[in-house]
Amino acid sequence: MNPAACYIHIPFCRSKCPYCDFYSLRSDAASMRVYADFLARRLRDAAGFGKRWASLYFGGGTPSALPPDALKNLLSAAATGLKDTACEYTFECNPGDVTPALAALLAAHGINRVSLGLQSAAEAERRALGRRSGAVQCDAAIRRLQAAGISNLSLDVMLGIPLQTPGSLEQTLRFCAEAGAAHISAYLLKTEEGTRFAVRPPPGLPDEDAQAELYVTACGWLQEHGYAQYEIANFAKAGFASRHNLVYWNAEPYDAFGPGAHGFLEGRRWHFPRDLDAYLRGAAPVADGGGGDFAEYAMLRLRLVDGLREDLTRKRFGHGIPAEMRLAAAPLQARALLCADAAGIRLNRKGFLLSNTITAALLENIDSR
Ligand code: SF4
Repeated sequence: MNPAACYIHIPFCRSKCPYCDFYSLRSDAASMRVYADFLARRLRDAAGFGKRWASLYFGGGTPSALPPDALKNLLSAAATGLKDTACEYTFECNPGDVTPALAALLAAHGINRVSLGLQSAAEAERRALGRRSGAVQCDAAIRRLQAAGISNLSLDVMLGIPLQTPGSLEQTLRFCAEAGAAHISAYLLKTEEGTRFAVRPPPGLPDEDAQAELYVTACGWLQEHGYAQYEIANFAKAGFASRHNLVYWNAEPYDAFGPGAHGFLEGRRWHFPRDLDAYLRGAAPVADGGGGDFAEYAMLRLRLVDGLREDLTRKRFGHGIPAEMRLAAAPLQARALLCADAAGIRLNRKGFLLSNTITAALLENIDSR
């Protein structure tokens, strides 16, 4: 059976952002060409074996950092694996990379959704994150993509940036809305192990309460301005929820290519090691064990506003939401952190702020079934 989605990792960035733990190396044109050619062969082979994906996602790293000739070859290869013209085909861009030529190249190869890493429209906040492109570049990128015919645009916004206030966050969100974003991802800045921020935290980091206030501000502002929340950190205008990411949150199978990329096929999870040379030598993926059991499915679905649904659970597993879970949900409902009813269990905004703790409590007495 063909998996619904495919993720392709481009492990190059011009420089390393101090908070980021994604696998990425400093971009140099020669390495990027070798990698893009290798990947193009892999994608053509997969299509030759009959693989066809309904969603394709180029992430990174910085896919838009690839040299245009290498990118053209890679996109031609990737297009052979598209199921049909209705596919969601996403490409992540650094706003400063989006020239009219790049926008035209992406559109010509069928890309119909672009995700732009804005993080903040405020210059001081952007500098605190070590980001190169800001509001001006993002605005220009959006105009160029729209002129090329790509109007399904997603903007990444970061919450909990040093110096950020509810007021400055609203300005960033207003910028996104006025620029024409159809989708906004708003993730809290986390201090990941091994990053520069973990070694030396930047001054002015909002504390936990301030972070919670920023999250609630984002949820409220976005809802008021026509962006419905559908996941803890994701908001979209009607019809623009990310079909690719919903594959992850529904624990559906997906393919993956590239060092550091994770896949899920035939009930098994796996990843390619974070090692470009090993990947280019054809290193096999590393097994991460079984996936898609009830506990994992419940954990993923509880990230969604739609929550863990009784009908979908029954359809997938042949049983409804276990009684132990409903029992665990009762005191959490009494604390107004979630809603549990005949339709299922759904965390609310307050619950999303404590989602890890709540999910662990709900699943405490559940076996994998
Ligand atoms: S945040 Fe994005 S641009 Fe910065 S290092 Fe990570 S992947 Fe690269």
